Amino acid sequence: MWIFFILALACVSAPSDPESDPTDSNETDSDPADTEDTPIDVSSCAVDVHQHFASNVAFSQAAEELIAKMEAVHVGSGTGVAFTLIQPPPAAGDSDAGAHYDYLSNMSPSLLQVVEDHPLEFGLVAGGGILNSWIHEAVLDERTINDTERANFKAAAGGIIDDGVLAFGEMAVLHISLEGNHPFIASPADHPLYLALAEVSVERSVPIDIHLEAVDQEALAVPDEMPSNCFQNVENGGNNPVSLANSIDAFEILLDHQFDAAADPEDAAIVWSHVGWDNTGDLTAELLDRLFAAHPNLYASLKILDAPGPCQSMENRPLTEDGDLRPEWLALFEEWPERFVLGSDEFVGGTDGVGAPSTQGTWDLMAQLPDELAQAFACDNPRRIYGIDE
Ligand SMILES: [Zn+2]
Ligand SMILES: [Zn+2]
Repeated sequence: MWIFFILALACVSAPSDPESDPTDSNETDSDPADTEDTPIDVSSCAVDVHQHFASNVAFSQAAEELIAKMEAVHVGSGTGVAFTLIQPPPAAGDSDAGAHYDYLSNMSPSLLQVVEDHPLEFGLVAGGGILNSWIHEAVLDERTINDTERANFKAAAGGIIDDGVLAFGEMAVLHISLEGNHPFIASPADHPLYLALAEVSVERSVPIDIHLEAVDQEALAVPDEMPSNCFQNVENGGNNPVSLANSIDAFEILLDHQFDAAADPEDAAIVWSHVGWDNTGDLTAELLDRLFAAHPNLYASLKILDAPGPCQSMENRPLTEDGDLRPEWLALFEEWPERFVLGSDEFVGGTDGVGAPSTQGTWDLMAQLPDELAQAFACDNPRRIYGIDE
C-alpha cells in the first residue's frame, strides 16, 4: 500500500529572517524614473499561474478568500488579478502522515468542483497529487518501469487532461527541506515516468509546471554551500542529504525529450516554477539565459516573496530589498520577453496561512517593468502558454 504525505509546505518558504539586512530601513533612495512613468494597468487581463488552496479549510472557503486577495492585490497602476490557476501541491510518496489531494480530492467540494464553480476567476492545474507521488514512490523504491506501468501512467495523465485541466502540476523534481519537519524530495527529471509525462504533454499540448531547485554543479554541500546560514536552527540542515546532486543536466534531457515532436515550442512547454526564489545560489540570470537559448520550450514562472526568505540567495532575487529591479534581470526579461509568467505560489485559506506571503511581492514586479513586458508577463504569455482563452 502506498503511503503518501502531502507537501503542505512543499513550495512555501520558511518565515523571513528578522535579522536580514538591518540597513534596509535607512535606505530612502528611489529611482526618479519610477515616479515619472505611471506603470501600465494590466489588472483586467492579469493571470497568476500558480496559487494553492490550503487544505485545512474547505476549498469553497479558500476560493472566496483567494478571490478577495485577487481583487485587492496591486498590479502596476491598477488593482486586481483577473484570473488564477489553482495547483494541487506536489505530494511525496515516502511519508506515513496525512493524505495528498489532487483535483478529484475527497474533500467536499473537490478542487475540480470549486474551480468549475468559478469559471471566470479560476483555471485548474492537476497531477501534483496523483502523478508526482507516483513518480517519487518509484524513485524511492528504485523500481524499474516496465511497459505496463508506463502505459498506466500515461493513461492516468491523459485522463487528467480529459477532465478539462490546463496543465500538469505542481510536479517536484528537487525540493529542499527548509525546516525540521519539512520533507526532502528528489525525482530526477530524466526518470522514465517524467519522460512519459513529457510525451503526454506534447501529445495534448499542455504545459508541465515543475518545482526545481537549481544545482548547476556536480554537487552542492548542505548546508555549507547554501547561500546563507538558513539551517542554523535545524539539526543536520533539515531533512536534506549532506550533498545535492546536479539537477540541471537531467532537466535539460527532459526539456529535449519529445521537443522535436512538437509543432510549436509551446506545445512542449515546461514551466520552471518559483524562479526568483533561489535557495541554492545557482539559479542565476546567467543560467536562465543559457537554458532559454538552448531550449525554446522552457518557460519561467516568477515568484517573489513579500520579504526575502532565510535560505534564499538575495543576489538571485530579481528585486532588491528596496524593490528595485536588478539590471541583469531586466536584461534577461528584455532578451526573452515571451518566456515569463507570474506565479505567486501562496497557500490561501483559513486564518493560519501556511508559509510566507508572496502574492503582493510577486505582483510588485509590474511596477518595475516596461509596459510591453508587463503586458506580456501578466496577460499575453500566460493566456497563450496555458491556452486560457481557447
Ligand atoms: Zn513549489
Ligand atoms: Zn507551489
